[in-house]
Amino acid sequence: MIIAIDGPAASGKSTTALGVAQVLGIRYLDTGAMYRAVTLAVIREKVDLSNVKSVDACLSHIELSLKFENSKAHVFLGDEDVTEVIRGIEVTRTVSAVSALPSVRRKMVSLQRKIAWQGDTIVEGRDIGTVVFPNADFKFFIVADYETRGERRLNDIKKMGIDLSTEEIIKDLKRRDKIDSSRMHSPLTKAEDAIEIDTSGMTLEEQIGLIIETVKKGEKGGK
Ligand code: C5P
Repeated sequence: MIIAIDGPAASGKSTTALGVAQVLGIRYLDTGAMYRAVTLAVIREKVDLSNVKSVDACLSHIELSLKFENSKAHVFLGDEDVTEVIRGIEVTRTVSAVSALPSVRRKMVSLQRKIAWQGDTIVEGRDIGTVVFPNADFKFFIVADYETRGERRLNDIKKMGIDLSTEEIIKDLKRRDKIDSSRMHSPLTKAEDAIEIDTSGMTLEEQIGLIIETVKKGEKGGK
């Protein structure tokens, strides 16, 4: 079974997806983490993003792998566990530009399919229901208003000891939304048959409960 969850950054989709995966006892694949890991490699190697050849050279030797434990994966670049580092500010600021590159998307999509086909998986990202798994068993599109998203992201980054105002965070969310939704390849869009959930006024438990109920009932979205 494949459950696709898409939506913009900080809409609540990651925590919801992980919660659903743990309740159902299946794997949770965070595709954003994969794009973040590539971005970390690109930053470290000072790759010029406008130079296709150097991007491809970097992609060809990156050893990106995931190790699952209790539904969730740790992300590795070679032997290094980069799960935490990829949440940093520089990666967050650069990831939308890196993930807009066609060669990056090709490599990630093929890896995502390989991983998810190994067993029941809830796959979360931006293009899962539209491009990566257009035939997913269930598709959800999670949204929330900017105020809610800003607050959620503020809580996340506070835990990492980073100091930013809600205004700065919302500005960055808007900037990333614009790049993610307007890029040429696999833009962030709701699949026609996805069920949209606005999590603005909802608790995490309600979000998880709604998805589990839908999956158990076997309900699909409508066109
Ligand atoms: O989900 P998260 O915010 O960690 O994703 C980081 C970035 O990775 C997104 O802003 C987007 O640019 C990119 N991404 C993507 N396609 C996906 C998942 C993430 O382009 N399937």
